[in-house]
Amino acid sequence: MKKSFLIYLISLIIAFLGDVSMRSLACNSANGNLLDNMQNDEEEYIHPEQKKLDILHYDLDILADHRNKIIYGTAVLTATGQADSIVLNFFDNMDILRVALNGAETLFSEYGNKIYIQEKIKTEDTVTVSVTYRGTPVMEGHTSFIFGEINTNPLMYTINEPMSASRWFPSNDLPTDKALLDIKITADSGLVSVSNGKLIGVYPKGSKKTYHWQTKYPISTYLISVNISDYAHFTDTYTGLRNEKMELHYFPVKEHQKEAMIDWEDHPAMIRVFAELFGEYPFIDEKYGVTEFLWMNGALEHQTITSIGYKLVTGRKYFNDILVHELAHQWWGNAVGPASWKDIWLNEGFATYSEALYDEALYGKGALSANMNRIYSIHFAGTLYDPPELFGRMVYDKGAWVLHMLRNEIGDLYFFRLLREYYQKYKYKNASTFDFVALAKEVSEMDLDWFFDQWVFKGDNIPVIEWSKSLKKENNRVYLQIKLSQIQDKFPVYRIPVDIVINYEKRRSERVFVLMDEREKSITVELKDELQTISFDPDTRVLASFNEKESE
Ligand SMILES: [Zn+2]
Repeated sequence: MKKSFLIYLISLIIAFLGDVSMRSLACNSANGNLLDNMQNDEEEYIHPEQKKLDILHYDLDILADHRNKIIYGTAVLTATGQADSIVLNFFDNMDILRVALNGAETLFSEYGNKIYIQEKIKTEDTVTVSVTYRGTPVMEGHTSFIFGEINTNPLMYTINEPMSASRWFPSNDLPTDKALLDIKITADSGLVSVSNGKLIGVYPKGSKKTYHWQTKYPISTYLISVNISDYAHFTDTYTGLRNEKMELHYFPVKEHQKEAMIDWEDHPAMIRVFAELFGEYPFIDEKYGVTEFLWMNGALEHQTITSIGYKLVTGRKYFNDILVHELAHQWWGNAVGPASWKDIWLNEGFATYSEALYDEALYGKGALSANMNRIYSIHFAGTLYDPPELFGRMVYDKGAWVLHMLRNEIGDLYFFRLLREYYQKYKYKNASTFDFVALAKEVSEMDLDWFFDQWVFKGDNIPVIEWSKSLKKENNRVYLQIKLSQIQDKFPVYRIPVDIVINYEKRRSERVFVLMDEREKSITVELKDELQTISFDPDTRVLASFNEKESE
């Protein structure tokens, strides 16, 4: 998921007026809290029995009646596991007409947006639970099954992330219970229904038309999507690392076809960049695609079919960074899923750093540094693991910075080996932050506990280093002393590699290095010429604030 903040739009306008680079003005000072106050309440949402359940397959049959804003659904879940009862998430405003277990109607109860079926299930068993229902899904924030309209045409779409799949179908709605999926979407025959995976068939019946989509790669419920409108359709082809061909399917709203053909044309090259960096595109036997929805704030990385807000389709590639971000999620988030929502930085930090890696692949190290500067902030409240805001900027930008600093700590060779091994090991599964830490230590053969403690688990916000300088003359030589103090209050002592540049006259300079691993440190350097200025972290390597102390 990536939001395009208002401030970013404002910066675009400034960019137009000022005729300067838009990316350089893509300000990161917007505060996600204003737009999204989603709390991490998965403990309340998920009943303990649900973690013992394993859904193998969802067969969803959804009829969307846009005139009455009602969906009629039948969900057939094939499940196994070791549980005392079958508990599923499903919002209680939906009218349940029938629940069947292995084909026979069964009793069930509803409580707290969950349905309970008193049936023990064992790992050697496979059962089917069938739920027939109808109703108007309720929204929370921007999530649900939404009946919208664009230029008097219906546009229906879903946003499930993080915990809203059960607003429109009964599900074991936790990211670790991945399953296979068949989804049959029925709507007016003039409308096109788009979903995950491959299109198996289109079946007209009277005034309606049913689209059957199939996903054979395991998918988390939050990544299942429905988009229905009178979409246009065009295709492209991605050639894989072994020369295999994969179709790209694009579904813009009709009046955006021309713009979408421009905006989305870089995808084959984008996929190639990530395939070479991380490993082949994870869903190569199915597709990648983009469609438009009405969430105006950004885009969502549904598996094999990203949805992007229709205001972000401009025909001028203004929002390429969002497309790159959502594509990167196909590796980070979709193929390698989070073990829980506490691990959300493994989705968003990775996708955000992938934007920087993409720019680096195209334009070099300067573009990488520009990206890191763009997402630098001194307002990263909370810890990255189990963050206070699931989709706050801290998760995205500090998450990306942590990967950038890890890369500097272990070096490019081990960093990219780590990303590739992490992808191979957890592809089509889920990984926790602890899994990632363990693999980082294994691949690099380094003790990195201190690193993840300070940047991910315990360190809140960023380190603040106050510095002061003094000059001393001795035997006709001039010595510069720089004193550094860590003054942040949320974490006692960070270990930070600090490059300092001493700038002399005539553009001459020299570099000194301090490993800032104590609260206070100082360094003395014999000056080689008249001192001009002192600057810190010239290569954009550390997430820290360097402030000169007012002279006493
Ligand atoms: Zn994202």
